Amino acid sequence: MAGYLDARPRVGYFYTGKSGTQLLAEKVKHITVKHYQSRPVVVQEAASVYDAICTMFLEDVGSLFVVDKQATLVGVLSRKDLLRASLGKQSLESIPVSIIMTRMPNITVCKADDLITEVAKKLIDKQIDSLPIVTEVDYGSGFEVTGRITKTNITALLVDLANDEMI
Ligand code: ADP
Repeated sequence: MAGYLDARPRVGYFYTGKSGTQLLAEKVKHITVKHYQSRPVVVQEAASVYDAICTMFLEDVGSLFVVDKQATLVGVLSRKDLLRASLGKQSLESIPVSIIMTRMPNITVCKADDLITEVAKKLIDKQIDSLPIVTEVDYGSGFEVTGRITKTNITALLVDLANDEMI
């Protein structure tokens, strides 16, 4: 009866008055990004569009994060960014990802301790598929990439909720 009943000394058990939906909402509001994150896949900013396409296929991901020589976040590449770059006549080996990526400071990021509901809202509001999970550093762009959270991760949470198997 988790959440439906509570107990107090000299009162005993009593009904909390909370609906199933309220209890579920309370549960979900405590889940943070770190519980559902994936491994980030990164490419160097000097990498070519050709290399990035190969990495995306080999790693089986829908977005790549671009890092500088200090391994800090400088860009994001989506499937459509790479598709768009492939429409031109230029050789894909000769186009660096740095000229087609979405770059800092326009990247939406999150932290491992952020609520998963806040991330879900950012994904919807910005109409994007994933966010890099970052920690702040005092060199390079100021963000080191530690993880990745995607719409698929949030779908996994939904499945866990339905099966009452939440982390
Ligand atoms: P796709 O372009 O394959 O539909 P997305 O919806 O994730 O994939 O990306 C849409 C655009 O938003 C792309 O140009 C991409 O570079 C950019 N983008 C993706 N993720 C982010 C992010 N976290 N912050 C800012 N821009 C992003």
